[in-house]
Amino acid sequence: MQWETVIGLEIHTQLATRSKIFSGAPTAFGAEPNTQACAVDLGLPGVLPVLNKEAVTLAVRFGRAIGAEIAERSIFARKNYFYPDLPKGYQISQYELPVVGKGRVEILLDHGEVKEIGVTRAHLEEDAGKSLHEDFHGLTGIDLNRAGTPLLEIVSEPDMRSPEEAVAYAKKVHQIVRWIGISDGNMQEGSFRVDANVSVRPRGDEEFGTRTEIKNINSFRFLERAIRFEIERQIDVIEGGGEVVQETRLYDADKDETRPMRTKEEANDYRYFPDPDLLPLVIDQEFIDKATAGLPELPDAIRKDLVSAAGLSEYDANLLTASRSITEFFRELEEWCSPKLAANWVNGELAAALNRSGLDIAASPVSAERLGGLLRRIEDGTISGKIAKQVFEAMWNGEGEADAIINDKGLKQLTDVSEIEGIVDDILAKNPTQVGQYRSGKDKVFGFFVGQVMKATKGKANPQQVNELLKDKLRVKR
Ligand code: ADP
Ligand code: MG
Repeated sequence: MQWETVIGLEIHTQLATRSKIFSGAPTAFGAEPNTQACAVDLGLPGVLPVLNKEAVTLAVRFGRAIGAEIAERSIFARKNYFYPDLPKGYQISQYELPVVGKGRVEILLDHGEVKEIGVTRAHLEEDAGKSLHEDFHGLTGIDLNRAGTPLLEIVSEPDMRSPEEAVAYAKKVHQIVRWIGISDGNMQEGSFRVDANVSVRPRGDEEFGTRTEIKNINSFRFLERAIRFEIERQIDVIEGGGEVVQETRLYDADKDETRPMRTKEEANDYRYFPDPDLLPLVIDQEFIDKATAGLPELPDAIRKDLVSAAGLSEYDANLLTASRSITEFFRELEEWCSPKLAANWVNGELAAALNRSGLDIAASPVSAERLGGLLRRIEDGTISGKIAKQVFEAMWNGEGEADAIINDKGLKQLTDVSEIEGIVDDILAKNPTQVGQYRSGKDKVFGFFVGQVMKATKGKANPQQVNELLKDKLRVKR
């Protein structure tokens, strides 16, 4: 049997407000436990929640960024359940009328194909506290600092068909929330958590299979692994004659497996009802205009522009729009050289160097301007691309600017044809066996000669000139 996977994601992203969604308590990460929850967050008797306007502003920005409708009127509801880290006994969320309606995002598949993933809705809600299982022997500690932190829950359509697509979509949403500045997206700190709904069905079937939901995945790598495991598990269950049970599961990264957590509750288990303490949220055009004023140009638009106007590949354009700082760096670099060369360096040599030192591009020791000073020397023929890598390394290590390094180390490309010609002649004379091989049709030997010339010139010969000279001199003399 051929199986097809169906995946829908629910993403919780923490909104970057200074205070909680219904109280003035601070949201800063890492404070001493239970020092940032006030009476409202704790749901003490007699308190009333007051909606944080900034949280609404950020939700509206997101809605605009994914081309979604913003609801003129939305409702806060109470989602009732019992859990030690939920002091009120209910979570304020949005149920029937979310603030952000249907939207869409694009993901890039292998081979540069673009696929659209539907976003069903995005709604505002408050976070719960946190249970701490370490440090307390046989006990569980409760830290309520996070209670009441504003979240935007972004629910996708079941549009993804593989773990790779799910990861691409999650990365895309992560990119957007950071790009428009509504969330820091910090996954280690829990500011961006993914629940994956996974089912399988016989390929060709219209109807979806029964799904399970894997909760609270906080890395893209785990997301991919958890889904992969879950697909295999479900197929095994069905092929073994069993049925997949709709349930919530947890991913255990150490064992690389998912485990049942609880059977899935139905919506009516939560006894949702409109929160009587909160008025309907009414948003007018003026509010939307204000909230979305100054929204930066979005990565998808820039990506398309880089492909169509600058002639870059989808792959390169995608990497260059991974974050705003990368795009900004590229834009600045592009002033100095061709977009293609700039793209190659940002995605190649520079990315590798940043990666090795664990630096963000904004903190690159070689700024766009300095790198531009190097790349223009490739374009004007002063140095070859290969020598440029050597110069770059020196720049990275603080040895100065491109031109100075090129001069001091005598790295200028040899362009004097007669000088190169002499070296070529010399090498051909010293290697008669290889010359014979080449002339009898062994084309591969050509690379050997290029290598020898480059070695003799310490990489400074102009590769094109070397190629031409060699071809000319190696031509079979009749
Ligand atoms: P609930 O109300 O139980 O959370 P929803 O209908 O809101 O369920 O769906 C939650 C998520 O599950 C959505 O992202 C949706 O795309 C996804 N989903 C729904 N059905 C399936 C299915 N059969 N397989 C995979 N994902 C699904
Ligand atoms: Mg749901």
